[in-house]
Amino acid sequence: MGIITIRYKLFTGIMTIRNDFTTGIIMAALLMSACGTTQDAGIISYDPPGATTETKPIDQQERLVYQIDDAGIYVDNRFDGARINDFYKTGPGHYRALITPEIAPINWSSWYSFRIWADEPQLARIQFWYEDGFHRYYPKLSRDRQTWTPADSVHFTHDSDIGSAWLSLMVGPDTLYVSAQEILDTNTIYGWADGLARDKAFITNDVIGETHQGRPIMKMDIDETTVDDPGVIIVIGRQHPPEVPGSIGKKTFIETIVDDSDLSRRFREQFRLVVIPVMNPDGVDNGHWRTNFGGVDLNRDWITFNQPENRAARDELLKILETGHQVYYGLDFHSTAYDVFYTINKDIPYFSHGLTDRWLEGIARILPDYEIREEPFGVASPIAKNWIFHTFGAGAVTYEIGDETPRELVRDVAEAAATSLMQEVLKDKTSFKSLERSERP
Ligand SMILES: [Zn+2]
Repeated sequence: MGIITIRYKLFTGIMTIRNDFTTGIIMAALLMSACGTTQDAGIISYDPPGATTETKPIDQQERLVYQIDDAGIYVDNRFDGARINDFYKTGPGHYRALITPEIAPINWSSWYSFRIWADEPQLARIQFWYEDGFHRYYPKLSRDRQTWTPADSVHFTHDSDIGSAWLSLMVGPDTLYVSAQEILDTNTIYGWADGLARDKAFITNDVIGETHQGRPIMKMDIDETTVDDPGVIIVIGRQHPPEVPGSIGKKTFIETIVDDSDLSRRFREQFRLVVIPVMNPDGVDNGHWRTNFGGVDLNRDWITFNQPENRAARDELLKILETGHQVYYGLDFHSTAYDVFYTINKDIPYFSHGLTDRWLEGIARILPDYEIREEPFGVASPIAKNWIFHTFGAGAVTYEIGDETPRELVRDVAEAAATSLMQEVLKDKTSFKSLERSERP
């Protein structure tokens, strides 16, 4: 049996995530029930005290091959999404992978991703050693970046007291990717978005701005509306580079909305989607733990707008106001220790009120065995969800997916989330239409 235990030592600031995956299929239900026992995620949502959103210098990772001459072992980070900052031998068959963040202090989303190979097959015991952070992500392995397997628990140990971990690997001439999560870099996600746009004439992708390093910020416009007063749904993602499960969920969410089902077709006659799939392309491709290339947590810059990524998103989304179209909901995809919907406090009115409750109830009807966790918050903090609420008067959610939630479950929940949202906003739009204009909020 596989178990997942997650505990937090809030007083020492050390976070522990230990997974013991069995080989073979991971039982979704098992993990779900285990996730339900999780304590407060305080340490993962840690914000460095006094952090501002002005651009600041970051430590750039050197891209190179680390070579261990006497063992004939090689490790490199020369690909988008990679992060390893040193690799050296500590004893016979023993090595240390040093992982450092782009800036410190920082939220401990301790991302790593590297390739390893060797002249001759051999066992390598690798210690993950972090500066300014602690081990968080259970290692995933891949030969081709398509198929990923969690490392066998027999070969992995995690010492939460020192925040370090050890992985024993058979290495050889075939290159192996070792990564905190699946590698979903900017090109992969843009490639997916372009593929969808090629298949579906109603999807248009545009560049709405540039990052500090000149990477394009892409917007998808999903618009097959046939009515004068289409509603709008806003979807953004990947403000935080390591939060790959959020990208997996967002992909399924969008694919469900653009599919050929009767519900999706009816929805698309009435509703348009504006999607910014990668808010932080520099952070994603540089293997950052948290920030953009300006050393800023983008999900803290939705009031000051000091960063080019936030300004590009804001300016693009503000165009919705000029059309006079009603925004019905906003979704911002992230990942944390467990699945949770960060919603808006129930006593705060927004359009259309009660939609969040009905949407979550709809997910529960589709997936009766899935335990929905909702944590409502006020709307004062400088995050995307709150900007959507203040700008459009609409409800919004920070859609958090667990770091180690089985990917099949991530997709099932995202599909249910898309289905339920389409059903509920269609009901709202019908009743909204029946109101006299003067009665509209
Ligand atoms: Zn996040």
